[in-house]
Amino acid sequence: MSNKIKIYFLGTSSSCPTKTRSLTSVLLNYQGVNYLFDSPENIQQQIMKVNQSIIKIDYLFITHLHGDHYFGVVGLLATMQLNQRDKDFNIYVPFGDKQQLLNFISASKLQFGFKINVFEVKANYKLKLEKVIVTAIKLNHSIPSYGYNFKIVDKLGRFDKQKALKLNIPEGPLFRKLQEGKSIKLNGKTITSKQVMDYKFKKIGKSISYLVDTFVLSKVPKSVVGNDILIHEATFTIEHKEKAKETLHSVSKDVGLFAKKAKVKKLYLVHISPRYLDSSETLKEVKKFFKNSFCPNDLDVIEIEDYN
Ligand SMILES: [Zn+2]
Ligand SMILES: [Zn+2]
Repeated sequence: MSNKIKIYFLGTSSSCPTKTRSLTSVLLNYQGVNYLFDSPENIQQQIMKVNQSIIKIDYLFITHLHGDHYFGVVGLLATMQLNQRDKDFNIYVPFGDKQQLLNFISASKLQFGFKINVFEVKANYKLKLEKVIVTAIKLNHSIPSYGYNFKIVDKLGRFDKQKALKLNIPEGPLFRKLQEGKSIKLNGKTITSKQVMDYKFKKIGKSISYLVDTFVLSKVPKSVVGNDILIHEATFTIEHKEKAKETLHSVSKDVGLFAKKAKVKKLYLVHISPRYLDSSETLKEVKKFFKNSFCPNDLDVIEIEDYN
């Protein structure tokens, strides 16, 4: 299995699409599991254009219920149904927004042969999977909005299976506990993680944040500090800073300063206002404050190793 995280920039526009830009959305793929961040209109064609499968998406994280971030949900679900999906589909929305999303889905009058689970997130809500943790980050927008941090679970060290078997530990959940650094009790004896783990081989998992839509946060959230990749909205350039304040969106310059303060490694700007012909001004502005910045085009793909 590949140990790369693939990041697909499916769209990069804000509010409405342009001839060359779809609305902002990012797809992450890691070890065969697909995580979608926002689902605007036209999401299906964008997923197909990067040769990914709509029915193989298991998690959808919606930042907020402005139309440019969720109007594509029903089409996505309809295609899953047409392809006879039977696996659960998990959607995450801001706290208090579950009913609005369910109303939107039920207005389609579609019947689904699979379960749609809708979860509401609050600040620091964590979805803990075996190899990945997704944390919700409270943003500053005109309606409740949450960004997400996607992190590969750290490896505490190398697990010595032979040592564990010699200690008569049965394979299964007890192995996992030891790998997580916990001690276990077996036949009245305590076995510590240290006995079967070599901590010299500790590995830190990569971390990617998606912060869209928001006025630049005054304080860097803990889960964003030192990220390998920060994907942040930059709806406006400094020329339209009043508009950014009014609509609670970000200015390219401020995002650059935020990335610097957060000590992230790379910054990718998305959610560019359709008023700009292209992202050249946005990029020029941000680079003055944070050099390692990029303005991806729709359908750009990057990949990174999962561990440092
Ligand atoms: Zn938006
Ligand atoms: Zn918005």
